[in-house]
Amino acid sequence: MPVNLHALSVQAPIEVFMTPRYRMLIGSELVPAVEGLWQSIINPSTEEIIAEVPQANAVDVDLAVQAAQKAFPAWSTLSPGERSHYLWQLAQGLEKYSDELIQLESTNAGKPIKLVSNGDVPFAIDNLKYFAGQARVIEGLGTGEVVGGYTSTIRREPIGVIGSIAPWNYPIMMAIWKIAPALAAGNTVVLKPAPQTPLTSLKIGEIAQEIGLPPGVLNIVTGGGPEVGEPLVIHPQARMISFTGSTATGKRIMGLAAHKMARVHLELGGKAPLIVLADADIEAAARGAVVGSYVNTGQDCTAVTRILVERPHYHHFLDRFTELSKEVRIGDISSESTDMGPLVSADQKERVAGFVDRAQAAGIKLHYQGTVPDGPGFYYPPTIFVEAPTDSEIMQEEVFGPVVVINPVDSVDEAIAVANDIRYGLAASVWTKNIHQAWKVAAALQFGTVWVNDHLPLCAEMPHGGFKESGFGKDLSRYAFEEYTIAKHVMFDLSGEAEKGWHFSVFGDPQ
Ligand code: NAD
Repeated sequence: MPVNLHALSVQAPIEVFMTPRYRMLIGSELVPAVEGLWQSIINPSTEEIIAEVPQANAVDVDLAVQAAQKAFPAWSTLSPGERSHYLWQLAQGLEKYSDELIQLESTNAGKPIKLVSNGDVPFAIDNLKYFAGQARVIEGLGTGEVVGGYTSTIRREPIGVIGSIAPWNYPIMMAIWKIAPALAAGNTVVLKPAPQTPLTSLKIGEIAQEIGLPPGVLNIVTGGGPEVGEPLVIHPQARMISFTGSTATGKRIMGLAAHKMARVHLELGGKAPLIVLADADIEAAARGAVVGSYVNTGQDCTAVTRILVERPHYHHFLDRFTELSKEVRIGDISSESTDMGPLVSADQKERVAGFVDRAQAAGIKLHYQGTVPDGPGFYYPPTIFVEAPTDSEIMQEEVFGPVVVINPVDSVDEAIAVANDIRYGLAASVWTKNIHQAWKVAAALQFGTVWVNDHLPLCAEMPHGGFKESGFGKDLSRYAFEEYTIAKHVMFDLSGEAEKGWHFSVFGDPQ
């Protein structure tokens, strides 16, 4: 059983556990849950318990929100440069513990080590550095005399305590996407990671304490949706809820937040189409589709799930995609040569298998299904369905596993219509060498991100977020920063007169 000495070292009095225990950050302290309950954390590739984390409840949430509320006045009135400095220090702290974060993320979420070390962790650190810079760039309308006799100015103010709730598929990235813009804009945060994958978030809490982030600016509480998430959503002092997760939970959160008229920022599910036009480079499209379909074992809200190929190249594309799918190396997540790891949990494996079983029962043709290694781990193989009806469950619902449908289409217009015939709208791609077709399709697709001749890349400087039931509000970029601010109009009278020229419309006669 691996033992994390750093995690043990934060405990006082000293206790010796076979399984390392991580603590929540509330105010200035790393703490267990008030009730003293612990939850076991499992490595999805071995099914072994690798850590225990506090199982919090509404009392812990209240303590965390109070700590964030107490920290808000001082944090929100720091200069942008001072806040930027803290965020940069936090990014440097993450860099210092980068190797440990990579190991934690890989073993907790079941991710291949090369994905975490080349993707999740360096990208999260880069995003944090971006927001350290963004903290100092406040944009808005210029101050001016927009009405005669007055000067108007816009202030972008922080909102207050932000309740942030994250999913399990990209734990460290989602934690940073929530923490960084919110803190940069002057808010304080209570973060609840997903119950399956809290380890890197709790490590960020330790690092925040180590770098001297002022107490209460960032708080991290662990536990389930009903026990910890809902108390955070309904807490009267949490003035905004930033949520990434499923559309069903997003709807529930929006309903709960409506009772106190709190802002919501919702990054929800996806069901991305990848469109291959007749003039596309088929080798490039097939390779891009394989990467987009099996990234993170398909547990990616932008993952390729519906491939639409213009009929002249349908069989060529299908053959090449299938050949490449057979080359995906599934297995030991600690090996640099592993391409695909397990699903995150037994529940998720059962859920994915359920979609596949129902599609087969509905008569949809299973074109190919790979195999997975013998032994423990929630592994599920690459699975390809073909020619599924647009209204079938496998074409409409988010599977969140390495399962893809490939369908032929007879025209560009049909490809656009099928791609848009879905309640989700997060991401899509089109593959073509024709610039006119690329623009036409990109403009017609109802998705928050559209790639041309690639699928998946994101960057700190550009927004990420959904249309339709994929939610609203943007992550990454200055648009995310703005989400965590509120515009205030301040209007100065310049006349100094007791009786203003317009007063007669309410009281008295014109002068
Ligand atoms: P989920 O909705 O089950 O859970 C997400 C988080 O919400 C977890 O922390 C969970 O504990 C919490 N939660 C659950 N019920 C709650 C409630 N009633 N009140 C408050 N909190 C509650 O989602 P998941 O299965 O963890 O994540 C997968 C989903 O996330 C997929 O649908 C995926 O598309 C989506 N996702 C979207 C984006 C994006 O950028 N749009 C990014 C990553 C993941």
